[in-house]
Amino acid sequence: MTLRVGVIGTGMIGQDHIRRLTQVLSGVRVVGVTDIDRARATAAAPEGAEVFDSPQALIRSDSVQAVVICSWGPAHEEQLLECIAARKPVFCEKPLVTSEAAALRVMEAEEAHGHRLVQVGFMRRFDADYRRLKAVIDGGSLGAPLLYHSVHRNASVPEGLYTSDMPLNDTLVHDADISRWLLDDEITGVEVRVPRRSTRGKDLRDPVVVLLHTASGALVDVEISVNIGYGYDIRGEVSCEGGVASLPNRPATVVSDRHGIRQAIPADWRERFIDAYDQEFREWIVAAGQGTATGPSTWDGYAATLVADAALRAVESGRLEPVRMRAKPALYGEPIAVAA
Ligand code: NAP
Repeated sequence: MTLRVGVIGTGMIGQDHIRRLTQVLSGVRVVGVTDIDRARATAAAPEGAEVFDSPQALIRSDSVQAVVICSWGPAHEEQLLECIAARKPVFCEKPLVTSEAAALRVMEAEEAHGHRLVQVGFMRRFDADYRRLKAVIDGGSLGAPLLYHSVHRNASVPEGLYTSDMPLNDTLVHDADISRWLLDDEITGVEVRVPRRSTRGKDLRDPVVVLLHTASGALVDVEISVNIGYGYDIRGEVSCEGGVASLPNRPATVVSDRHGIRQAIPADWRERFIDAYDQEFREWIVAAGQGTATGPSTWDGYAATLVADAALRAVESGRLEPVRMRAKPALYGEPIAVAA
């Protein structure tokens, strides 16, 4: 059976997801698109797809079975609530939403529906290298994880598009989510340190160093640099009681010439995580075809939102800011058990 999908938001990642849903993956067809900018939606629409006037019209259309949200974060809540009201499975790009109150409203609507409909676009969980890293940690041969070092470097971000809070409220959510998933732990507190500002960073607070405290007592340090210039560089290393496990550098042809020996660095997230995005949609298509969702949930999106909120408070206060989560609804599985 072919899953009929509508895409909301046809900007950078919307166009990339339309490409994979149209040209790469099977069992799926993009039947509708919409964007605030109708001309952009029309240009991005695959052959035969309808261009809708609004997200509401797309979500409510009988021709659309499942929805992919690629609009900007502040628009996600309204669109998610519409999808849940229409009982349609929805893939929502990160961030789930941009405030704790909004995350709780989405969670309550999904709970009232009775089963999961929402998958959040935390694509690192679908990356083969991250999955192997998690398998090593879960295997237990290295002992308990104590520290996780996460490095998140973007070549640049478009000028004028982001505020100074962007590294903490937009970028950090990936590191927060992958830390929770890798360590099987909840984040309980956040500290932020701001070194000398990069002159490449325009008016952004860039770089930043974030320290995440977890319920088990493990610590995660995150470097976020969003204008590093040389490429998109994602690193991760877990120090355990009896050894260390790291993400490999991405395989790339080794070039030797008069400048030395070097390997290419991915230009951006599209290149680095191309296979992970494909895999996250493969798994979403199967679940959405059954009227449900698997993978990163509303609960995971809520957790990442709380971490971003705490990070924004921490940068102002200079202190450790607590992350207080509500009790976990049964819909999202067992709470993480933490040894005393
Ligand atoms: P973008 O290029 O600005 O595209 C967003 C598009 O959505 C724009 O065309 C925008 O129109 C449109 N839009 C905004 N609000 C809308 C609404 N209420 N209804 C319909 N269309 C609306 O941004 P992007 O880089 O594609 O990012 C989109 C989302 O994906 C963001 O939440 C971002 O954080 C996320 N993202 C995730 C990853 C990842 O690695 N998973 C990577 C990149 C982006 P206007 O430009 O006219 O406002």
